[in-house]
Amino acid sequence: MNLLQGKTALVFGLANERSIAWGITQAMHAQGARIGISYAGEALERRVRPLAGQVGCTFVEECDVTKDEDIAAVADKAAREFGQIDILIHSIAFANRDELGGPFYATSREGFRMALDISVYSFIGLARAFQPILRPGGAMLCMTYYGAEKVVPHYNIMGVAKAALEATTRYLAYDFGPQGVRVNAISAGPIRTLAAAGVSGFKDMYRAFAEMAPLRQNVTIEDVGNAAVFLCSDMSPKTTGEVVYVDSGYNIMGVPEPPQKE
Ligand code: NAP
Repeated sequence: MNLLQGKTALVFGLANERSIAWGITQAMHAQGARIGISYAGEALERRVRPLAGQVGCTFVEECDVTKDEDIAAVADKAAREFGQIDILIHSIAFANRDELGGPFYATSREGFRMALDISVYSFIGLARAFQPILRPGGAMLCMTYYGAEKVVPHYNIMGVAKAALEATTRYLAYDFGPQGVRVNAISAGPIRTLAAAGVSGFKDMYRAFAEMAPLRQNVTIEDVGNAAVFLCSDMSPKTTGEVVYVDSGYNIMGVPEPPQKE
């Protein structure tokens, strides 16, 4: 299958081979997309360059999304390298580790600001910078989590950030509709990544997830990658502003199955 043949995809948020961004990159490459990759900081370059090599990607650019000048520079370089692009993937989030545990009311003003700046505003900033070179028929995609809708203990400020990210997805979808560019979010079940390791109690939550989800299975970065291909391909031309669950059905459950009686 070559669902993305002739399309160019720029992926933001690749840290290592466990990153959801890597699952998306591999799936898009397998479907024929030309790939560009952006990573957060110099420290990651050593890990990211070899991964880029695996998918024949030579456009590998550093971009700290808290800096407008970084975003402008990468958009400028992408315009020179590719002319136009078809797909923009936002797979970025950050919150202070000590605020991903304990009571939510302990969230500091600075912690709130930083989490929403990096995890939400960056999607708006990237959308604005890439708007002139997003080809009609293109798509933008971000990554969210169920903690946006319901309380997930310890997810705290990230839950609030994800709620804002999902609203942002809808507003961007409205703005970009006339340009023929769709904007969606994937709500993924828990996956063991660097970012997830920062949420206290994640391991227990990960285990309990597979017991409660209708499909009784955890989610992989490959699962998210394949859903991302669908949402960014011509197979979903009328889907925009949506949050699509890749969560083994977890979100449809009200209560877990009662324990079996002996
Ligand atoms: P990950 O591999 O740690 O990816 C998070 C990425 O965000 C990293 O590349 C990180 O770079 C980047 N980032 C942080 N601050 C940045 C900045 N200032 N500028 C640019 N990039 C920055 O973890 P992941 O789980 O794949 O996360 C990807 C997305 O999926 C996030 O939006 C996350 O909330 C979402 N998600 C994850 C799960 C899960 O269970 N893992 C579930 C649902 C949704 P650094 O490493 O340098 O900080």
